[in-house]
Amino acid sequence: MRFHVMTLFPEMIVQGVSTSITGRAIEQNLISVNAVNIRDFSKDKHHKVDDYTYGGGAGMLLQAQPVYDAWESITGGKQVRCVYLTPQGRTFSQSMAKELAKEEEVIFLCGHYEGIDERVLDEIVTDRVSIGDYVLTGGELPAMVMIDAISRLVPGVLNNEDSAQTESFHNDLLEYPQYSRPEEWHGKSVPEVLLSGNHKNICAWRLDESKKRTEAIRPDLYEKYLQKEKLIKQLSKSKRNHIHMMESLARGLASVIYAKGKNILLYNDDCKVGYLTAENEEIAKELLGYLPGEAEQLYTCGEVGEQVVCEKGKFKSYQKLCLCLYTQKLSLPVRYKDIRSIEDMTDSFGAFEGKHMIAQVAVQADGGICLTYEKGVEADVEVLKSLLASASNRLVRNGYTPYLYYLPEDSTIETVQKELGFYVADKKVTCFS
Ligand code: SAM
Repeated sequence: MRFHVMTLFPEMIVQGVSTSITGRAIEQNLISVNAVNIRDFSKDKHHKVDDYTYGGGAGMLLQAQPVYDAWESITGGKQVRCVYLTPQGRTFSQSMAKELAKEEEVIFLCGHYEGIDERVLDEIVTDRVSIGDYVLTGGELPAMVMIDAISRLVPGVLNNEDSAQTESFHNDLLEYPQYSRPEEWHGKSVPEVLLSGNHKNICAWRLDESKKRTEAIRPDLYEKYLQKEKLIKQLSKSKRNHIHMMESLARGLASVIYAKGKNILLYNDDCKVGYLTAENEEIAKELLGYLPGEAEQLYTCGEVGEQVVCEKGKFKSYQKLCLCLYTQKLSLPVRYKDIRSIEDMTDSFGAFEGKHMIAQVAVQADGGICLTYEKGVEADVEVLKSLLASASNRLVRNGYTPYLYYLPEDSTIETVQKELGFYVADKKVTCFS
């Protein structure tokens, strides 16, 4: 990912990002930070870039021309997200960091003095962002705050992929307290449970502590968490049909767009997927209107007809899928010896014959497992079972409930899932794309 920072103090940016985790990410070419000095684009013989404000008032303002020319030197006319750091912007958040981490390139514009001429902001800025309700002397620290928060979401930047998953704000809970050596310090001991080695008890303790902490410090977040929990409980009355919605909520992957009685619409903005369950077609039609325009896929459960959804004219094709749920909470045996994790895709496994990959399972962005294989290996149910077992074991280990999307007419997968103890939903899910 490439960051460009337009600033009057490039050395501040370069020094700020070149140490610790961001520094390492730069060395490994996972991110790059290009600090562009706005002053280099001044047409004034003394390299002046600021002037008085029209109408009077205290302080100087950065002029439009050098800012515009600096921006043009970066973009060369290309469309690139350009974030102006300003106390008047939307407050920066983890979800904004997540959204920006999907871009290949982002420009940050740092103001100074009283700010920047509004006309150039209108022309080049796509987002106005504040890092909090206080006023700083310049936009450099806010830009570095954002670069830091975004970089750690870029794959490979953090050594342990899991740490971004369990941290505060993930799933609306603040992180639990943590301890390191020694076991006793200043007469205070590490909680017993953390020394027990019992993973299940440790997870339960951590969740409990996260809840207590969130309730005490951020009651607003806690309220959101409780509402999600209530919804998961409601969906669990028909678990086999709604496992994809339950897991998306539980993992903090989907937000609730609408929820009243049996009518629920969720949206996963990471993979642009909506999930809908509705009492009848009339309601489904109405709820679809709430789906963000950018949505690329929609999974509807059971009752909702294809006609209704397609009437929106938005989704061009659809297919019927079966949800398949593994509920045993036990690791499955893995028999096939040649199963390899596929590089770059940490949640994918492939089975190989020589160098040739004959089947693959991938845990999708919404947590569901997808199995693909060559028709020629149809008979080799053992291979598919082993692959599925590997992916499921990983999910079970991380406290998730594995589920599988499969095409109902595929008898091979049906055999595999039955033998592994996956249970099929009573209703077919329609996937529109
Ligand atoms: N006159 C401006 C106003 O009232 O909105 C404040 C200008 S401030 C002194 C100078 C620069 O610092 C701003 O242009 C902006 O780039 C940066 N800045 C200050 N506080 C900020 C904050 N809370 N978040 C993001 N940027 C900030």
